Amino acid sequence: MKVKITIIFALILLSSSAYAQLQCGTESTENVAYQRKSTNSYSSKGLEEVSFCVNVYFHILRNDVGQTSVPAYYPGTMLQKLNEDYEQYNISFNSLGTGYIDNSIYSNDGVGVYRGNIDQLFDTNDHPNAIDIYIAEKSDWAGRADAVLSKDFVIHKDYAITGVVSHEMGHCLNLYHTHELQFGQELPNGSNCETTGDLICDTPADPNLTNYQHLLQNCLFPNNSITTPNNVTYYPDPKNLMSYTTPDCMLRFSDGQVERMKDAMFNAPILQDVLTCCSTEPITISQADEVCYSISRTFNLENLCYNTQTTWQISNNLQVVEHDDFSITVKAINPSVSGQGWVNATFNNSSQQVTQNVQVGVPNYYVQTGYMESQFVDIFYQRWTRLFLFGVEEQNGWEWEVDYSDIRPSETQTILIYPRVLGPIYARVRRENQCGKGPWLIEYFEVVEEGGFKILKQ
Ligand SMILES: [Zn+2]
Repeated sequence: MKVKITIIFALILLSSSAYAQLQCGTESTENVAYQRKSTNSYSSKGLEEVSFCVNVYFHILRNDVGQTSVPAYYPGTMLQKLNEDYEQYNISFNSLGTGYIDNSIYSNDGVGVYRGNIDQLFDTNDHPNAIDIYIAEKSDWAGRADAVLSKDFVIHKDYAITGVVSHEMGHCLNLYHTHELQFGQELPNGSNCETTGDLICDTPADPNLTNYQHLLQNCLFPNNSITTPNNVTYYPDPKNLMSYTTPDCMLRFSDGQVERMKDAMFNAPILQDVLTCCSTEPITISQADEVCYSISRTFNLENLCYNTQTTWQISNNLQVVEHDDFSITVKAINPSVSGQGWVNATFNNSSQQVTQNVQVGVPNYYVQTGYMESQFVDIFYQRWTRLFLFGVEEQNGWEWEVDYSDIRPSETQTILIYPRVLGPIYARVRRENQCGKGPWLIEYFEVVEEGGFKILKQ
């Protein structure tokens, strides 16, 4: 074994790229304790905005007397790299600390980490509530997770602050390589994507990029394709974190990969204890148009931690259709109710609370607050006069009616009227929403003669 290791390191030293030779050693054994089910999927719950936070614990491997070439600042920088790579997917990482394992076997003085001692390493100073990350100065692999869906990985120091750290974390969170073969090879056209390869359809078929890395230019292949020695053309994604691209090009996950990781965090027993709440974003609640009796509305919470328990309260003109910790669906308590309502959420792991006000039923507030005035003190017979609506919020969307008068059609707060009778007339204005038409706001006006004006006009 020592001879083999020496050869590997000699190759590293000769290589122009510091990390061209070591690969990921994660084995793709199928996890029997957790089977992903589409019926219980993360996405089916509409929870794209829920934040996941994963506890990690760093272990720096040293020799028997506490010496190592792993820099002390690596755990902090690795945590930063993990958070940068996963932030856009609403997944973050929280460090529970850094410890040291002083055992020359794992160090440059010994054989380093290899197949024969890795299980023993993963049992050392194990944290039940964190993903344990072991940083080695000497190992057979760039990185190796205990399994696809697991709580441990080892990473070689030369790869520790590259995309490899996020790649190995991806294995712990249930991702296979994009070129995975244990379920069969994905066809270049992806027609069997659901049952072969990495079992994810939005990652294109990948023949294993190891032998094609030299073709990469700015992390892309010429014409976005590679052709195998058997003359088969593939269009793999050389920026995918779970491919065998170069560490510098490990840049992104696909939507399907993110969904698969979140499904595992939601459902896999092995991951439940490592999840925590570390969101610093304020919790928000979505807005909704009016809530009707016939049209229910769903309010979703955003920036909620995965393991939050939510208590909902609603105004007494609303009723609950369904609710869980992440959302509530409500409708009006009966077809005729009209007024302001609200939903309110409080949480077990946060002192925040959020409230959303909403119109329940048809609009009606303007009946209390609104009033009309005419342009002049009097409204004159057969003369265009302006009526104004005051005391309302909306400037548009009004429906007007005025007795015995011509009107210039308007949806605004003002209207021109031309009375064709003398004496009392009524002007009416109202609003409509998806629940229906609100009540009329009715105002009485007296139409009078305006002598001077009429005489001049005649
Ligand atoms: Zn891997």
